[in-house]
Amino acid sequence: MSSTDTFRYGVPQERDWNAMSDEEFRAFVREDFETHYPQELRFPPRRLRWSENRDWHLRMAAKGWIAPAWPAEYGGMGLSPSKLLIFFEEQERVGIARFQDHGILMVGPVLMRYGTEEQKRRYLPGILSCENIWCQGYSEPDSGSDLASLRTRAVLEGDHFRIDGQKIWTTLAHDATHMFALVRTDPAAKPQQGISFLLLDFTDPGVRVRPIRDIGGYEEFCEVFLDGVRTHRSNLVGELNKGWTVAKSLLGFERIFLGSPKMPEYGLQMLETVARARGVFDDPVFQDRFVQLQLDVAHLGDIYGHYASIVGRGEPLGPDVSLLKIWASETGQRIADLIVETAGPFGGMNVHAPVGGTTIHALAPYYKARVMTIYGGSSEIQRNILARQVLDLPA
Ligand SMILES: Cc1cc2nc3c(=O)[nH]c(=O)nc-3n(C[C@H](O)[C@H](O)[C@H](O)COP(=O)(O)OP(=O)(O)OC[C@H]3O[C@@H](n4cnc5c(N)ncnc54)[C@H](O)[C@@H]3O)c2cc1C
Repeated sequence: MSSTDTFRYGVPQERDWNAMSDEEFRAFVREDFETHYPQELRFPPRRLRWSENRDWHLRMAAKGWIAPAWPAEYGGMGLSPSKLLIFFEEQERVGIARFQDHGILMVGPVLMRYGTEEQKRRYLPGILSCENIWCQGYSEPDSGSDLASLRTRAVLEGDHFRIDGQKIWTTLAHDATHMFALVRTDPAAKPQQGISFLLLDFTDPGVRVRPIRDIGGYEEFCEVFLDGVRTHRSNLVGELNKGWTVAKSLLGFERIFLGSPKMPEYGLQMLETVARARGVFDDPVFQDRFVQLQLDVAHLGDIYGHYASIVGRGEPLGPDVSLLKIWASETGQRIADLIVETAGPFGGMNVHAPVGGTTIHALAPYYKARVMTIYGGSSEIQRNILARQVLDLPA
């Protein structure tokens, strides 16, 4: 049996996507998403739970489209970098809610790079079929930006690690069946050198998940308590005490997606609709602010295009990509703030409301934009990276 047969996991691709032109490919996926993605799930005001978008993801899994970035021999679409960007851009254009990010975008690629053959065989099929839903256990109380200070302890007892500690802000942990976690395995070593990357099964005894309610009243992330949880030593990814290297490679995968201009572009459209409906679009002061935001979004598109072309050529992103995340998230916040201000009474209501012949949830972009300057490295941390690694400013 060839390695291709071994890892395709029953999801052969309909065709060689990379043999299509980029335009042809864009038209093909656009048509599919436009036709099949349910209207009521487009541009949701919050992250959807698994129960809400399960059917869509199972459809994508059955089509072999659930893992567009994975190589075909692992059951993915094997898209070239430029086609991958098109795929994500078209998803965002239609307002498709992502769900399986942590399995598909994070732990899957990590296992392909650092995992043993046994780990790949054991875990990749469950990610592709959506039978296993993963969450990311990095942050802890008092260890967010300063992740290297994390304290969740894992001690090797015979063939198992025993894990005790707490994770926090774990997105959709209440839907997860598994967690990939950073844990401290050598408390005597320098902070970054005593950390390991472990895989945990949430059905094992000792795992307790408690949802956290956010300012919008939604429960998207959770606290996760780990009390004497045991995981077999074969669930260690990479070398013992070298989890930091594994974790760093994982953060590289997500950086371009945090700077997509689609959400601010959508926000700008919403702002225009609200402003026209409220009769402020002809006000010169409003126009001035609107045009400023239009320019900010246009700049964002240019910056994104620059980094997308680097990714498209298959080259690594440098630390200067921090600029993209700052610009995308802070532009998104400025737009969201002006939507709330312009919407008047609707701006303070956490509901869909009729505005200008359509229905708008004026607070949704506001809630979404608030968190963007925190997760994936806060704006302050991104500025520190730019100061130290790009501008070479003194500490
Ligand atoms: C919506 C959302 C989803 C998330 N999902 C997950 C998840 O699934 N899994 C996971 O592990 N984590 C997740 N997180 C956690 C996220 O990674 C952390 O919130 C983030 O790293 C910041 O850490 P913190 O909250 O502990 O804040 P802190 O690190 O305590 O920071 C507090 C403030 O101090 C600033 N600050 C901190 N250090 C410095 C410094 N050196 N210089 C200047 N300013 C500084 C920060 O910018 C921030 O403004 C999520 C967070 C959010 C908001």
